[in-house]
Amino acid sequence: MENGSVLFDNGTHKNLLLEDFGHGEMVQANVHMIVDSGKGIILDPGGHKVYKHLISEVGKIIGIKNLEYIFLSHQDPDIVAAINGWLMVTDAKALASKLWLRFIPHFGVDTFVIDSLIGIDDEGGILKLGESELYILPGHFMHSPGNLHIYDPTSKILYTGDLGASLGQDYIFVENFEEHIKYMEGFHRRYIPTNKVLKTWVKMVRDLDVETVAPQHGAIMKGKDIVNKFFDWLENLECGIDIMEDVYKIPDKKLEV
Ligand code: FE
Repeated sequence: MENGSVLFDNGTHKNLLLEDFGHGEMVQANVHMIVDSGKGIILDPGGHKVYKHLISEVGKIIGIKNLEYIFLSHQDPDIVAAINGWLMVTDAKALASKLWLRFIPHFGVDTFVIDSLIGIDDEGGILKLGESELYILPGHFMHSPGNLHIYDPTSKILYTGDLGASLGQDYIFVENFEEHIKYMEGFHRRYIPTNKVLKTWVKMVRDLDVETVAPQHGAIMKGKDIVNKFFDWLENLECGIDIMEDVYKIPDKKLEV
């Protein structure tokens, strides 16, 4: 592989972080891919500017025919915007929360590929990829009300979408968790609706054997020590309505627009 990096490889099962082709005004995004026995799933493939580069990467890595799934953790444009192109040139099925099935077509999904868009129930489920299994987990309200994550028991990587996202750091792997908090804090405090959802999610994922947390934006958290610090931090984070009650009053400020 020419670009990106390999997060895990045991010969038949690979977890790849594809190169960040996003530039300009777009938020930095990680595109992850999991390959097992030659079959692939791409996670949160992004918008139009990265689409043609990614398609060609996927072609080089497994051949476009072997892309079985496109996983959409939630409905944001940095994830879904190019979905029509993906469905037109691959035979892959796109998987998203059932909540968003009626909205995703507004990104311009053509009628004859609409059946390739598959809704996942709130509870998630176990997906077969090649000879391996992937757990599609509930990640609802973090930040989207219909939000899904993927846990890969082979590599022990937990793919968390926007949860764990960081902005502004200049490294790919977190070395010092305490120093890293400042790059995550603003997003999580504003986008996650309340601490209760974080506590509930952490309780669920502590039952998994997680070596790596791989978000869709920013740095990756590798190693049990850092992963556990991340879970501890989330459990105690006040966010959303926990800290924003004061905003709810009739404004008296004139906008200068
Ligand atoms: Fe998002």
